[in-house]
Amino acid sequence: MLTDRINSLSESLTIAISTLAAELKAKGKDILSFSAGEPDFTTPQVIKDAAIQAINDGHTRYTAVAGIPSLLDEVVNKLKRDNNLNYEPKNILVSNGAKHSLFNLFQAFIQEGDEVIIPAPYWVTYPELVTYSGGKSVVVETKDGDGFKITPRQLKEALTPKTKLLILTTPSNPSGALYTKEEIEALGEVLKGTDVMVASDEMYEKLVYDGKFTAVASVSDDMFKRTITINGLSKSVAMTGWRFGYMASVNDELNKAVRKLQSQSTSNINSITQYAAIAALNGSADKDIEDMKVEFKKRRDLAVDLINASDKLSVIKPDGAFYLFVNIKAVTDDSMGFCTKLLEDKGIALVPGVGFGSEGYVRLSFATDEATIKEGIGRIIDFCNSY
Ligand code: PMP
Ligand code: GLU
Repeated sequence: MLTDRINSLSESLTIAISTLAAELKAKGKDILSFSAGEPDFTTPQVIKDAAIQAINDGHTRYTAVAGIPSLLDEVVNKLKRDNNLNYEPKNILVSNGAKHSLFNLFQAFIQEGDEVIIPAPYWVTYPELVTYSGGKSVVVETKDGDGFKITPRQLKEALTPKTKLLILTTPSNPSGALYTKEEIEALGEVLKGTDVMVASDEMYEKLVYDGKFTAVASVSDDMFKRTITINGLSKSVAMTGWRFGYMASVNDELNKAVRKLQSQSTSNINSITQYAAIAALNGSADKDIEDMKVEFKKRRDLAVDLINASDKLSVIKPDGAFYLFVNIKAVTDDSMGFCTKLLEDKGIALVPGVGFGSEGYVRLSFATDEATIKEGIGRIIDFCNSY
């Protein structure tokens, strides 16, 4: 009855596990969930006020598909101010979350026979979107020793005449790895002279604790032309429910194509969210963003110290995002079995590494309070000791 392409699609594992944990909790079970990729903070007041104002001002109608002009200007300003990138409003398409931006991109740009290079561990959604577009994922396994980052040599070896796109995520979900400017330049050197485009997912840009964030498109003229920058507000400003993301690219043909697709699917995003997003992007929430980051950093340091104090688990301190990608190989390689039993026995929800393309690891989100982190990691260590 259904299409082959929908039958080949898997449900998002991260969403499935967070939903299961919430259901068990609602039934009264003692569950501590470290599965959600979602800040536990509420959206800053200045942003909520902008949304309320937009409702009262009557901004309740359809808008241009790509977003209202003042919002597109604000995205352009943000990319200039934060990343030294010179985009124009016509280069920006605002969509219903960065996930939707990625969906549009893959539908417009990837088809049967195209290869997409995805460094693992990767965010669960990428290979699914590649499959749904008819393309083929070429997964490149990165090593803890390389800080979970694809090396120029690995990239070179993965390239074929069919390669259409490379996906980079900095900082990474699930490893938190942050690419330095030099590392991005070196990857750019490998791509020079090819037609390969780069999708750079920079969702966690504002959550960097060590080192300096570098936008992939900013390292050279050549990379600016071949990079499609994907970003949003879900993580940096605690706006997961508002649904705001964007893609930026100087490729006019691609921009026309994704606008056309969105004009026939969702049209513009929620008009109220667009006004809220202006307040989130124009600097008025910067203090709130900084406060959340300080809190996340404290939690990261606490969680890393607790994990690394155990002799069965280890983790590389992540430079950014709010996840630990914990090595469980001293206990087992079977991350799905580990997570299933951990949830049953100890009421702890983690996401198995296999969902991110890397067996022998689990993802722990530290977007939760310190007491929960202490209690939860204590239970995980007890569990490992008796596994
Ligand atoms: N990219 C990465 C790396 C993510 O972790 C997420 C989290 N959901 C997204 C994109 C999509 O975020 P959203 O659709 O909420 O903007
Ligand atoms: N990106 C988040 C995560 O990795 C949210 C869930 C999802 O969109 O898959 O958990």
